[in-house]
Amino acid sequence: MKVPFFRYPYVFEQDRTAVEEAMRSVCSRGAFILQRDLVEFEEALAEFCGLPHAVGVGNATDGLELIMTAVGLGPGDEVVLPSHTFVASASAVVSVGAKPVFAEIGADHLLDPADAEAKITPRTRAVMPTQLNGRTADMDRISGIAREHGLLVLEDSAQGLGSLFRGRMAGTFAAAGVYSFYPAKTLGSFGDGGAVVTSDDELARTLRQLRDHGRDPETGEVVRWGRNSRLDNLQAAILKVKLKRLPEEIERRREIAARYHGNLSHVPQLVLPPPPSAPGTDDHFDVFQNYEVEAEDRDLLRTHLAEQGVGTILQWGGKGVHQFEALGIGASLPTTERMFARSLLLPMNTSLTTEEVDYVSEQIDVFYAAAHAHR
Ligand SMILES: *Cc1c(COP(=O)(O)O)cnc(C)c1O
Repeated sequence: MKVPFFRYPYVFEQDRTAVEEAMRSVCSRGAFILQRDLVEFEEALAEFCGLPHAVGVGNATDGLELIMTAVGLGPGDEVVLPSHTFVASASAVVSVGAKPVFAEIGADHLLDPADAEAKITPRTRAVMPTQLNGRTADMDRISGIAREHGLLVLEDSAQGLGSLFRGRMAGTFAAAGVYSFYPAKTLGSFGDGGAVVTSDDELARTLRQLRDHGRDPETGEVVRWGRNSRLDNLQAAILKVKLKRLPEEIERRREIAARYHGNLSHVPQLVLPPPPSAPGTDDHFDVFQNYEVEAEDRDLLRTHLAEQGVGTILQWGGKGVHQFEALGIGASLPTTERMFARSLLLPMNTSLTTEEVDYVSEQIDVFYAAAHAHR
């Protein structure tokens, strides 16, 4: 059996008929930039997250940069964030001249609120958790710390669309949140794409100006320096089709996570993510953008799985942002580093059949049974 980590052609195959129709419609109308499909997708997305505004942008990294610009972060400011995140969270901070300061992660691989608080200095302006793997951080604690120290809360919720903490969606806790539509994300487009969501009318207007060369959408007048980071109308039309099926997609991801949990929770060499809980039974509703385990003998397990036709990846290439030497960060984060040495992403996407999930699980069992026999 072959179980690749991700099946990119499936992003197209899955909704092929409806998506082909949407693409034909956009192209035959010549409706390429800032057209009604974008407006309709933005409205549908805003409704899905329960906020008044969604602003389509080129990608989530741009979205983060536009938020940093809009809230006025700049040189001399520090932002506390986890190092277990995509380099994009930190580069967005750097893009406005501010300084990223890295904090440890907790047992759930998300920002550790206590260490985030310990990293606050007189220059700290914001704290920014990453809502990683489709799970939302404890935003009550993080917002409490921010309030106490007079800080902004920002969120890298690029992986968090649909994920809830106490009934509220990732991306809706801060002044503004972002979602990424990179093809492998829970809501994937046919290329790059992203959106910023906010409940703040003024911020939404600023973001619309910033993404379109500083031009005001109503008057066309240039009212500030901006840039070009619009979500393509074609991608928006595709995403509008896919957004309708997102709740179903999330349910399937949660089923797969429950299956992995049932298959693997007896394996002592693994630490699994929390299983999906029934809505309303605890604080978290996770959407499993990724299924990240910690594994003993991780590299040997990975080789074994590859030999058995199972694709896995090391998130972010297996390093925290602070571990990329060229960036010259030089921090020491032992908990994060230990996690990275053990972490592995198993296949998690809705192209997987239950048989495939069972096959992956069996191969893991076989590996540790053999390793045990050798000892
Ligand atoms: C995917 C991702 C991003 C970047 O999103 P793009 O749309 O590719 O720019 C940022 N942060 C996290 C946590 C991500 O997973």
